[in-house]
Amino acid sequence: MSVAFRPSENIALLRESATIAVSARARALKAEGRAIIDLGAGEPDFDTPAFIRDAAAAAMHAGATRYTATEGILPLREAVAAMAREYGPVAADVTARDIVISNGSKQSIFNACFVLFGPGDEVLVPTPSWTSYYEIVQLARATPVPVYGDRARDLKVTADDLARAATPRTRGLMLNSPCNPTGAVYSADELRAILALAHERGWWVISDEIYRRICYEGDAPSALQAAPGRDNLVVVDGVAKAYAMTGWRVGWSIAPLDVTRAMTAFQSHATFHMASMAQHGAVAALTRRAESEAAIAGMVAQYRERRDAALAVFATAPHLPLVRPAGAFYFYFDVSAAFPGDPDAGSTFAKRVLEEHGVAIVPGAAFKTPDWVRASYAAPRDVVVEGITRIVALYRSLTGR
Ligand code: GLU
Repeated sequence: MSVAFRPSENIALLRESATIAVSARARALKAEGRAIIDLGAGEPDFDTPAFIRDAAAAAMHAGATRYTATEGILPLREAVAAMAREYGPVAADVTARDIVISNGSKQSIFNACFVLFGPGDEVLVPTPSWTSYYEIVQLARATPVPVYGDRARDLKVTADDLARAATPRTRGLMLNSPCNPTGAVYSADELRAILALAHERGWWVISDEIYRRICYEGDAPSALQAAPGRDNLVVVDGVAKAYAMTGWRVGWSIAPLDVTRAMTAFQSHATFHMASMAQHGAVAALTRRAESEAAIAGMVAQYRERRDAALAVFATAPHLPLVRPAGAFYFYFDVSAAFPGDPDAGSTFAKRVLEEHGVAIVPGAAFKTPDWVRASYAAPRDVVVEGITRIVALYRSLTGR
């Protein structure tokens, strides 16, 4: 008997990741021989620094090829805890016991949402925000509640915005600074007000800090530097962006002990642990500070240069609403004036710019703001400038100014 696939209720609302889909489409077009400028992927274009690759290879040759603990190898968890303690008094008691190493920070977010939220719970999601938050909250059978940021504040939300969106069912809040897709960075004061509200209301806060080191005016503040306490706080971070280690899939959570235990139990049935040699590479990234700080500074300097070069191109279209990115490596801009009345102007624009001008970008619908589009500048400078030039030219030809 043939069996037809009927999706289970678990995935009733599931949609494929739009950010990953754009990368796949750009790759497919390239494979067909088209010259595509890929500003879609949120992925550093740099190679992982050699000392990290060497450390992972050495560990593999020395026999680090077997299972590790579910929560990860102790030297890596100790390195993460030591880094967290540098955030200040709220993090002073963080130890390796509060850390779970996961298959990228995406799995850390999944672990946290799954153990903290469930049916009937509402989770506030400052919007626009990374596409996977909404999906992951839904996979936990909870309800994501978008809270829209004001464009006068670079689309960031305030504690008042969150308080207005809250209901008696609100259980949690997703934070992300620097923000994907906008590049906006929350100041320590802005974070303090939001975290004080969350603490007072007893909401869980999941703070995704994966872009913290990619910031153009010093590191972005961590929630651990601004929170009144960490009993309601799960900080998520990883090596992917700062150390150009996307393919290694090493992320982690810093959470209260009981939450960490629940996430460890959950992960023990899902993926068990992260690839052992990748964990050893991450130890080198976090502990060989002189080398890694030099590598990060070099990459951030290049992101800054690309950002500034592209901003000069955007300046030729002063009517195009754009968030000036203070961190991460994305431009986020509103293209609705190019297609008046189109409820999904961002998708229409992204399609046109890809099919007619060979530039891949992500429609803002992925981030619940369909008037906008995201262009990554994690690509060589000339590629970024050429891509943004084509985008701006299309926008100007469509809007007539
Ligand atoms: N986070 C990156 C992006 O937004 C990588 C892809 C993904 O996992 O979404 O493009």
